[in-house]
Amino acid sequence: MKSSAIVLASRPAGAPSPENFRTEEIEIGTPRDGEVSLRVLYLSLDPYMRGRMSDAKSYAKPVEVGGVMTGETVCEVTQSRSPEFKEGDIVRAMTGWRTRAVMDASSVKRVNTHGAPASTALGVLGMPGFTAYGGMKVIGQPKSGETVVVAAASGPVGSLVGQLGMRVGARAVGIAGGRDKCDYVKNELGFDAVVDHRSPDFAFELAAVCPNGVDVYFENVGGHVWDAVLPLLNLYARVPVCGLIAQYNGPGKGENDRLPAAMSAVLRRSLLLRGFINTEFVPTHYEAFQQELGPLVASGEIKYREDMVDGLENAPEAFMGMLKGSNFGKLLVRVS
Ligand code: NDP
Repeated sequence: MKSSAIVLASRPAGAPSPENFRTEEIEIGTPRDGEVSLRVLYLSLDPYMRGRMSDAKSYAKPVEVGGVMTGETVCEVTQSRSPEFKEGDIVRAMTGWRTRAVMDASSVKRVNTHGAPASTALGVLGMPGFTAYGGMKVIGQPKSGETVVVAAASGPVGSLVGQLGMRVGARAVGIAGGRDKCDYVKNELGFDAVVDHRSPDFAFELAAVCPNGVDVYFENVGGHVWDAVLPLLNLYARVPVCGLIAQYNGPGKGENDRLPAAMSAVLRRSLLLRGFINTEFVPTHYEAFQQELGPLVASGEIKYREDMVDGLENAPEAFMGMLKGSNFGKLLVRVS
């Protein structure tokens, strides 16, 4: 059996471009004992994939040049040679950017979204949602009356960070790019305030909506957003350092200048910055995340938004756009 796949054609220097990707037909064979055959329904496109395109030292191995782009998908089991799964089961798997795959059944997980659409297993009820949950539970620990600030606030991580903050009685301040995203964060997600990071007066506007400073800054972007938040951090503020998307395509202008000022603030205000990769919290918090969030998402109490792109062939363009903020909600590709 064959599958269409998108492979890494070359490593990008700076922002990825179409030449870095190539579509290929690959042979996948048929399942042997203990394996399942999968038809990919949805592919998740995530910022971490930019890191996998580079061979710089990282917490995870890069994709080899010529290798299938890495990624998690929601799939239908089309053939099973494992007692764990039967034809028609909906599962999630690390198949990468492709239409079909044959996988070892032990690496495939059954999707349980408590009645919410299966695609949410890649977003609010999947890895990005769990990242928000784990980062807030373990590091952010917001309390009633405190101020929680998060950027990329309309995306799957940021939107849940703010909603989790509000659920414990904290004020949620979102940062997003452009009017439509800001309106969504304020009016539909119900954040207490939102600021557009593209505004020329961004730093002043952020300070104005944080009159009592910032107690939890969930770091999703770095760059000029971190610059604006740093002076607002209160004594003992917590900073879960989750992602730095503004810097993934290479160092920005003046980036080195920020470090001494940042570290001086860490010292003077006894700030707790703690980096994390969501997998660290899986053993201790994943089960609770699914049990707690699943019903809240299914009932609509926790809101989310998906940005669905049709066709695997459109994945590279959608991915490149996400690194510039063109996605509006959890970016997914409807593969079949
Ligand atoms: P999103 O779906 O929110 O997409 C990324 C968003 O980042 C864009 O839509 C854009 O939103 C914003 N953005 C892009 N470039 C810039 C920029 N230069 N300055 C400010 N904002 C920018 O992403 P996710 O919710 O999936 O991920 C959010 C962050 O969390 C990322 O940094 C990601 O790498 C990180 N992450 C970390 C994990 C971990 O385990 N540590 C796991 C999962 C995600 P806007 O237009 O609103 O600015």
